[in-house]
Amino acid sequence: MAKKTVRDINVKGKKVLIRVDFNVPLKNGEISDENRIVEALPTIKYVLEHGGRAIVFSHLGRVKDEADKAKNSLAVVAKRLSSHLNQEVTFVPVTRGKLLEDAVSKLKDGEILMFENTRFEDLDGNKESKNNPELGKYWASLGDVFVNDAFGTAHRDAASNVGIAANIKETVAGFLLEKEIKFIGGTLENPQRPFVAILGGAKVSDKIEVIQNLLKIADKVLIGGGMAFTFFKAMGYEVGKSLLEEEKVELAKELLVLANGKIELGDDVYTGKAFDPNTEKNVRSIDSIPVDEMGLDIGPRTTALFESFIKDAKTVVWNGPVGVFEFPRFSEGTKSVAQSIADIKNQATTIIGGGDSAAAVIQFGLIDGFSHISTGGGASLEYLEGKVLPGIQCVDDL
Ligand code: ADP
Ligand code: MG
Repeated sequence: MAKKTVRDINVKGKKVLIRVDFNVPLKNGEISDENRIVEALPTIKYVLEHGGRAIVFSHLGRVKDEADKAKNSLAVVAKRLSSHLNQEVTFVPVTRGKLLEDAVSKLKDGEILMFENTRFEDLDGNKESKNNPELGKYWASLGDVFVNDAFGTAHRDAASNVGIAANIKETVAGFLLEKEIKFIGGTLENPQRPFVAILGGAKVSDKIEVIQNLLKIADKVLIGGGMAFTFFKAMGYEVGKSLLEEEKVELAKELLVLANGKIELGDDVYTGKAFDPNTEKNVRSIDSIPVDEMGLDIGPRTTALFESFIKDAKTVVWNGPVGVFEFPRFSEGTKSVAQSIADIKNQATTIIGGGDSAAAVIQFGLIDGFSHISTGGGASLEYLEGKVLPGIQCVDDL
């Protein structure tokens, strides 16, 4: 379903509520990765350049007690935002009340303020995270229109997204949310074929619904990483000390039947004796993993097999590294998969969903090799599961 975006409304002279995802990692009070701030700039700049009065807000971390408040203030983010915009960002250190209301009424066209961490409201009965109706209504009352650009929280029903949308005339998507809807939503709805999904990561249990949903839509589902061993076990192989979820073996059997040949697992792995970056590396056929070894990466034949499917794809969705890429010795498979996908960038839509997969691609210097690298962790996963995300649903249809 096509959604309205900030381009579809007139923001001039309007008080524009902008929900962004500024949930940045902090180390000793300093921002250690500003990517989320940078990603939100296009929407904020658009509003300011078109004469809107921007009221920006986000959650940051979890807020369970007063100590969390001190740790998770957005003040430092407002400062960083200000330097990116080259413009003053008025930081309002509260989430409601006269101070905030006065600051809003003082805003002129093209000016911006940011208020404090929306989760400060969680101290008093999880009002933000449980979408307390009074809170959503209050925040909505501060603005004329609502721009939701927080994909990272789109899978949550919060006062700062769904609650505001329910109490304001117009809710539109920002550019970041628009991009996620276009790439993930659009691809799952109407993929160019062949559509190859690559799934990896540690556990089957984290990804069951993604596997189920992609089995319905994709032409091939390539499975690697730790989760492959539960499938190998389901096929009757012994997996040694590899990551195995015994209680999911039956489910893996069912999925293999359901897949009807769509799932490809390959037939070899690199193993080590210990979960250790320096453990000795061996290549093993899947039918001969020694009892004292564990699979830590896909093997060379499997890598070649995966590449043979990827090279002809018109759509690729990748979620989860196919090996322990954090150990250089076992990063080869994940790197090859990333490279094979990057190689077809000009002929295919290629999407990464998943924090660790994105981290892997950044580590390999291949960040420009993909059509879209999703910015949401949990949100991407739930979107790939085929779920309706409340933070997207609450945006007005076009
Ligand atoms: P994403 O964040 O991309 O969705 P996950 O969080 O599901 O990915 O999984 C990432 C983790 O899976 C990585 O830390 C990686 O080391 C681990 N992993 C991949 N392959 C294996 C394996 N064979 N054995 C153990 N862990 C693995
Ligand atoms: Mg992860």
